[in-house]
Amino acid sequence: MRMSRMLIPTLREDPADAESISHKLLVRAGYIRKISAGIYAYLPLAWRVLKKIEDIVREEMDAIGGQEVLMSILMPKEMWDETGRWDLYGDEMFKTKDRKGRWFCLGPTHEEQITALVRDNVSSYKQLPVIFYQINTKFRDELRPRFGVIRGREFIMKDAYSFHTSVDDLKKTYDDMYRAYSNIFRRVGLDAEAFEADSGAIGGKMSHEFLVPAEYGESEVVKCEKCGYKATIEVAHAPYKKVDYPPSDKPIEKVHTPGTHTIEQLAEFLGVEPSRIIKSMLYMVDGKIVMVLIRGDYEVNETKLAKVLDASEVRLLTPDELDEMGLVKGYISPYAVKDKDIKIIADESVQDVKDGVIGADETDYHYIHFNIDEFDVEYVDIRQVNDGDACPVCGAPLKRYTAIEVGHIFNLGTRYSEPMGATYLDENGQRKPYIMGCYGIGISRVMATIVERSHDENGIIWPISVAPYHVIITVLDVKKDDIMTVGEEIYKALTDAGIETILDDRDLRPGVKFKDADLIGIPFRIVVSKKTVSSGEYEIKDRKTGEVFKVSKDEIVPFLREKIYGQ
Ligand code: ATP
Ligand code: MG
Repeated sequence: MRMSRMLIPTLREDPADAESISHKLLVRAGYIRKISAGIYAYLPLAWRVLKKIEDIVREEMDAIGGQEVLMSILMPKEMWDETGRWDLYGDEMFKTKDRKGRWFCLGPTHEEQITALVRDNVSSYKQLPVIFYQINTKFRDELRPRFGVIRGREFIMKDAYSFHTSVDDLKKTYDDMYRAYSNIFRRVGLDAEAFEADSGAIGGKMSHEFLVPAEYGESEVVKCEKCGYKATIEVAHAPYKKVDYPPSDKPIEKVHTPGTHTIEQLAEFLGVEPSRIIKSMLYMVDGKIVMVLIRGDYEVNETKLAKVLDASEVRLLTPDELDEMGLVKGYISPYAVKDKDIKIIADESVQDVKDGVIGADETDYHYIHFNIDEFDVEYVDIRQVNDGDACPVCGAPLKRYTAIEVGHIFNLGTRYSEPMGATYLDENGQRKPYIMGCYGIGISRVMATIVERSHDENGIIWPISVAPYHVIITVLDVKKDDIMTVGEEIYKALTDAGIETILDDRDLRPGVKFKDADLIGIPFRIVVSKKTVSSGEYEIKDRKTGEVFKVSKDEIVPFLREKIYGQ
């Protein structure tokens, strides 16, 4: 393709709204354009990358027996009412009405539709197991769309669903998927790692997230470099640091603590360690208020909290709700709930704090010499694990880092088949609900994640497997017919050899053309100029390593074929 005819609108400046590297580079290199918050158009180069990622995904899904389908994006409300998710899904679901006033949604995910399709078209155990997948656009009205296409409101996902007669059978497909996902991420050049995940409200024991370490990731994980223990922050455990604050013989005392808005300020004001301060918080847990206590040097992990309380929703009370109870955020104590029917749960680390500091249920006041033992408290592990905390297996310091979730596989059990009456006939003619698994990969997020992991100060560095083109021929002196002719000859030779090539025939300064080639990240660049043509030595630069090779004209095709296909 001639670059003069292509839409590659490169920019010199980063877009003002971009935080992450991939967002900046994909816009600057002319791959994507924003249509609205979290909604992007993919320009020609991006579409080529996406199709390459999709093809790798297809190969791996087909290899484990997946059948590709394309489900409808618009779905009627009634289908979602069958599982209760029309109401449960919440504000993330885009909803719309047709001309007759019937409600539809734009699919955020497709469990309901695939379950209905299998229920209505598969009936016998003899037809099982089955695996279906699609590559389709998903819609989620994310609270915070960010980082370009990493968290979009409209994005491309590969979603797969499998149907089984037993958990053992599901396990086989689950393991196949696990391996297929590992292959996919390796093939697209991502160092993704599987973490056992919290499967949230969906349930089931098998659940893994595939995560790629990245500065702009919104997932957090801990890992022990010594013994290999690893976990997402939602399920991570680490023994707490023991403290020894024996009970005081002094009575509890209310002290004035003006201007202390953080734990650090309060600790400094009172001359105590943050671990001696107990934070009290009120949570709404599935409609019921619960008091949660944690040490000043720790944070509550709400996923762990929801899990220990077996709750589907936990959230802090709002300032208004606290106000109605006559309380102020930051100054609450268990005395405020003493005679009320409110359960108190505390992180296990709180039990060491016998002579502690706690809010005094009044702005700017705290109690000192507080002793937790006078309350009826349930101790549980609800702490967020921090960088440097001890590994629960070997005790070495844990590393905590952010990562991008590129894929997720999980066991759905009968969460969808049961309410939807999706059953098959077993060997004995009995109706049984399908055991299901589901498996997602964010295709557009994968594209951006590759850029997060593979770039330098000059631009994107695509791995060959997903690069939009393999080679860019940068012709300098484009106005000289003899030079341009050589450029075209090389272009034809490469294209005939199946090497995907762009011919930069634009009449621009060499500096601009080199900058663009680096920015868009094509793996190999050949310079065709007066100098190279007359010397017969063509410069081929490897975008990734920066190495420059001098190759004769006849050697260009075999040299690049070897580099690209290893043959
Ligand atoms: P997240 O925790 O990032 O919101 P999720 O748990 O909601 O992800 P799933 O429902 O498991 O995600 O979706 C499967 C895959 O789709 C994810 O692993 C991710 O790669 C991708 N994905 C999810 N939400 C988005 C989004 N808003 N934009 C782009 N890709 C997404
Ligand atoms: Mg999500």
